[in-house]
Amino acid sequence: MAGAAPAGGKPETRLERSKEDVDREFRMLIDGEWTAARGGRTFSCVDPFLEESWGRVPRADADDVDRAVRAARRAFDDDGWPKTPPACRAALLRKLGQLIEENLDALVLQQIRENGRLVSEMRPGTGAVATACYYYAGLAETFHGVSLPVSVPNITSYTLREPIGVVAAITPWNAPLVLLGWKLLPALAAGNTLVIKPSEVTPTSTLLLAELVTRAGFPKGVVNVVTGYGDPTGMALVNHPGVDKIAFTGSTVTGRKIAHAAAERNARTSLELGGKSPNIIFADADLDNAVNGAMAGSFSATGQACMAGSRVLIEGKVYDEVAARIAGQAKKMIPGDPLDPKTQLGPLASKMQLDKVLGYFEIAKRDRIEILTGGKRLERKGFFVEPTVFGRVDNACPVAREEIFGPVVSLLPFNGEDQAIAIANDTSYGLAAGVWTENVRRAHRMVQRLRAGTVWVNNYRLVSHAVPFGGYKQSGVGREMGPEALNEFTEVKSVWIDTGNKVNFPAG
Ligand code: NAD
Repeated sequence: MAGAAPAGGKPETRLERSKEDVDREFRMLIDGEWTAARGGRTFSCVDPFLEESWGRVPRADADDVDRAVRAARRAFDDDGWPKTPPACRAALLRKLGQLIEENLDALVLQQIRENGRLVSEMRPGTGAVATACYYYAGLAETFHGVSLPVSVPNITSYTLREPIGVVAAITPWNAPLVLLGWKLLPALAAGNTLVIKPSEVTPTSTLLLAELVTRAGFPKGVVNVVTGYGDPTGMALVNHPGVDKIAFTGSTVTGRKIAHAAAERNARTSLELGGKSPNIIFADADLDNAVNGAMAGSFSATGQACMAGSRVLIEGKVYDEVAARIAGQAKKMIPGDPLDPKTQLGPLASKMQLDKVLGYFEIAKRDRIEILTGGKRLERKGFFVEPTVFGRVDNACPVAREEIFGPVVSLLPFNGEDQAIAIANDTSYGLAAGVWTENVRRAHRMVQRLRAGTVWVNNYRLVSHAVPFGGYKQSGVGREMGPEALNEFTEVKSVWIDTGNKVNFPAG
């Protein structure tokens, strides 16, 4: 992800897996205590590069979730976290940012062991979490309600922004700490308390971050972490009456289930879900740049990115040339150890994800889709598949409609802006889109017509803590990052003060 200043400014050391991790037993964080699951059950992480299990993590049940929610409730209702002066909350966030910078290598390594993402991606991505701490520290002190002019004599009216309460933050495995940061930092800045449920694929990096939260000095119970699967741990959290808001990132299917459960008690939700984003290359684009942008959009994070530009729309006149260049570059990608800075393609994060992607290769064969390169599992250890490029795909095919979440891109030819828009918007998703053109008027026309939460022109995958991110349609509800994020973690209280009117009853 771009937009992240490298944290710390230290020379980069080569990270190594530690053998001690194999038997390491992790604990969850509940009410300031590092604790096992009450039932004593655990599960293991699997390194997707080595295909080996390592570390044991508590498997929380409804009882553990209840303890965590009660702790967060107490920290919110009784212990005064929402009343902590904004400057104190800001100071704690700044301290957390500093600790993240000091412990960057450990946080990066932990995530790579869990999900196999490349070190070249994880370093800037994780450094961005520190930068976001500083940004939300600033907002903690400056975010405020407004004074409102009301056309009634003797009335003073204003709004207060107040924290919502206990937030359940449920996160996926593809960028565990970045996506947690998008929830944790604005939630804390606004004065909420949290129970975090990381993905079962990537729990330990969140536990390490939680350790830094405690070292930064956040009071006990303000941040709690429960580890386990979606069922029962995630579900117990979503259904807990003590949770006021659920901030979720994950698949559209899970997001829908969470929204249903939350609706039962009108709990607040913000949902960051899947995508099938169009990356549109016009013939008048800088094609070198556009081809690189299509590669970055499709193959960064081994394609396991919600914002992946997994449908590349190419204008007819340049289709053959651009398709050949994308396929040629994909063929040359270097697979390998994600800890090696020279590696260009890492493994998929889990066996489940591998099986899902292989399933789409079968669907493509069944649908007789042209395979320009790839389409198979790589013959080596680890959950690797070949970088795969499908040519001249019809937008109605499953590979163009469904989120594959692997290093797989569909190329679709088009002619003219109207057809580009028709194909691009013909999707149930609406997370992001890219437009490649040197024509500034066309660029603005396309931006206005695309139905997506983010549109990049002549770039792809830029994100920043300062810019809101979220989806149209099935890609989500609400926005994370930017000042908008604080709207998602606060209620608005409207205040009316009468300084001189008499109340007449009955009226007139
Ligand atoms: P997932 O939906 O399977 O799981 C996400 C989280 O939800 C995990 O912690 C999981 O344990 C939990 N969970 C699962 N079922 C649950 C339930 N019934 N109740 C409560 N919690 C439950 O998603 P994933 O496979 O971990 O992540 C990949 C998905 O995330 C992709 O669809 C991707 O597009 C999406 N994603 C979206 C964004 C975004 O910002 N829009 C960013 C990253 C990933």
